[in-house]
Amino acid sequence: MRLSPRAAGIGESATLRVARRAGELRAQGVDIISLGAGEPDFRSPRVAEDAAVEALRDGFTRYTPAAGIEELREAIAGLYRERAGAPWGADQTIVTVGAKAALFELSLALFSDGDQVVVPSPYWVSYPEQIRFCGAEPVAVETRPEDGFRLRPEAVLEAVAPATRAVMLNSPSNPTGAVIGADDLEAIVAGCAERGVLVISDETYDRFVYDGLSFPSAARLATRYPETVVVVGSFSKTYAMTGWRLGYLLGPPALVRAVSKIQSHSTSNPTSFAMKGALAALRDGEVDVQAMIAEYQRRRDLVDRMLGEMKGVSCRPPEGAFYAFPEVASLYGDDCADSVAFAEHLLESARVAVVPGAAFGADRHVRLSFACSEETLRAGLERIAAAIAARLR
Ligand code: PMP
Ligand code: GLU
Repeated sequence: MRLSPRAAGIGESATLRVARRAGELRAQGVDIISLGAGEPDFRSPRVAEDAAVEALRDGFTRYTPAAGIEELREAIAGLYRERAGAPWGADQTIVTVGAKAALFELSLALFSDGDQVVVPSPYWVSYPEQIRFCGAEPVAVETRPEDGFRLRPEAVLEAVAPATRAVMLNSPSNPTGAVIGADDLEAIVAGCAERGVLVISDETYDRFVYDGLSFPSAARLATRYPETVVVVGSFSKTYAMTGWRLGYLLGPPALVRAVSKIQSHSTSNPTSFAMKGALAALRDGEVDVQAMIAEYQRRRDLVDRMLGEMKGVSCRPPEGAFYAFPEVASLYGDDCADSVAFAEHLLESARVAVVPGAAFGADRHVRLSFACSEETLRAGLERIAAAIAARLR
């Protein structure tokens, strides 16, 4: 088969590959514990299920406007106005088939050959792939575990060159859990605005921050920098609605129009009745979100405690999202020389699936998801501890 260079150059999503591998092994009867893909184990809010079923039964099963149904766009825009004083209305809001599609469509609308995009590292697996797919080059800005993966504004702005079209932010971060502080965020946005560079802020995990920390959304800066700030969000994590495939973006009018046209030729629109469910989640799902936040906090504390007891593993408690990103390189050896081999070793010897740090640009680490039940998490961590203890003997 002769594939386009574009298709030939793209790899399978590492997070989804781990999920697939764990599923295959399970199907063969192997007792696998998956701390791989970040997929909430919670049920979607009952209000969302009911509203979607009702819409489906009522025959709300036709195409909708390409950018999504007006009520949902208005509700999303309203949320950002209320929470962050953002200037956006429904006409600057697009509902997409997951945040992944929002990010992809943004890449298609903005990037082409020779462009550069600044991406803080460790980064979520799909950013570099999507950027390269559009012919552009991701430029990594390293953050370090010893600084709590803090992203320094000066480092970001130093990486901005004449070819830079955008800076891709992800706070709370997948995989590190780091949250960008309000002052750092403002310095990055102001510096980018001066240089005519967009800031795309992926806030998929915005509701999941721990220890009472508050989350500064880039939306707070959109009134001051309306041509610079783009926010991407998702229903997947906030409301445990991964399979519904609903996300969104808000940003400058010309960009939103371009994305809407791209969407009109790709997905047409997100699924009609799913959007009715999302609307109900947004209006009445807060109780469910609060319960999830409390549960994730408990799991975060458990992971932190159990990883802290493992020799050779170093991990700071993640501030947000639902991943731990321990440094494990001191456990590498001749038989197991990098994060891919180490993750493979855990799969074989401990029957626990984790994602190799290399997929996020950090080969000294592996990523563990704690979006699973406490029981699963505890059992998975016990197995990892036993496998590590055996390695050290
Ligand atoms: N951004 C980040 C940082 C993610 O971890 C994910 C995966 N959930 C996405 C975007 C995409 O989410 P979805 O397409 O399910 O909305
Ligand atoms: N975003 C989640 C993760 O990083 C789900 C898988 C994916 O969409 O890549 O595990």
